[in-house]
Amino acid sequence: MSPIRVAVIGLGKIARDQHLPAIAGNDAFHLTALVDPSSTSNVEGAARFDTLEALFDDGLAVDAVVLCTPPQVRYELAAKALARGAHVFLEKPPGATLAEVAALEEQAKISGFTLFAGWHSRYAAGVERARAWLADRRIERVSIIWREDVRVWHPGQTWIWEPGGLGVFDPGINALSIATRILPRAFFLRSAVLSTPSNRAAPIAAEMTFTDTAGVEIAMDLDWRQTGPQSWDIVVETDAGTLKLANGGAVLELPSGVERAEDREYAGLYAHFAALIQNGRSDVDTAPLRLVADAFLLGHRKTVEAFDD
Ligand code: NAP
Repeated sequence: MSPIRVAVIGLGKIARDQHLPAIAGNDAFHLTALVDPSSTSNVEGAARFDTLEALFDDGLAVDAVVLCTPPQVRYELAAKALARGAHVFLEKPPGATLAEVAALEEQAKISGFTLFAGWHSRYAAGVERARAWLADRRIERVSIIWREDVRVWHPGQTWIWEPGGLGVFDPGINALSIATRILPRAFFLRSAVLSTPSNRAAPIAAEMTFTDTAGVEIAMDLDWRQTGPQSWDIVVETDAGTLKLANGGAVLELPSGVERAEDREYAGLYAHFAALIQNGRSDVDTAPLRLVADAFLLGHRKTVEAFDD
């Protein structure tokens, strides 16, 4: 089969760090075009455009587009690409609202093209092992601690502080993408406190409590003001001891010992995208975005000290 001709839209941090190497490392794909209004990144053999319209006007053949832009502009780009007959891979979060993602899902169904809402953290090395281990255990309590320094991880990213940018839920939704994969039962929000700097539209910290359908409590602590050691940990207490998924899912600590494996998050995403296209299927799980939207629906708001980069 000839390779899937792919265009990457939005050449920021994640496109350069992860998508371009993952495409280069997968023979099922050929990088045909790059689209960004300002980035100067180039890849030999790939055409450069400032806009998606310019790419389509040029008539260059592409089979798939990968949207690595901020979420606020993703719907229009995805709808246009599906309408032009391209398969679409959405970086996380899949959109700025749940309704626009549902509209895209419907459009993909009608058009017959693949829509893939990727959750990269679900491909972290320890996630599937954790899911399998938890399947047979009685879960007593879950703690999610996602504390990082926004100045280190998101310097100068203004979109992340705007409506639709999610603020601290931009990394926090990765934790929820893992939790919704590894925990055996559905869970939902009970309470939330969102702390938003007085000069920003999106929260810098959030404390939440969820319960699952059996009444087990899931506590979540998200904070972007962390300096020193950073935490991307999920701790699950069970009748057979404690499971800890550390480093964003990369390291699995079980009562029997610690397991680490090579990072294959984006390799895993692209293998799945290729399989979806080959099988004529879509994969759009909005569960993590639903939980974040619920925090904005149900959460108390607290205004905190102004934040500057
Ligand atoms: P970023 O560094 O700000 O990059 C976004 C890029 O998209 C910028 O170059 C931006 O150009 C470009 N862009 C904006 N509007 C566009 C449009 N209409 N057409 C084409 N390009 C457009 O952001 P990022 O960190 O890569 O994050 C992008 C997405 O990936 C986010 O949803 C984020 O949650 C997700 N993600 C990020 C990471 C990470 O570690 N950074 C990890 C996983 C997933 P301008 O700068 O000129 O606006």
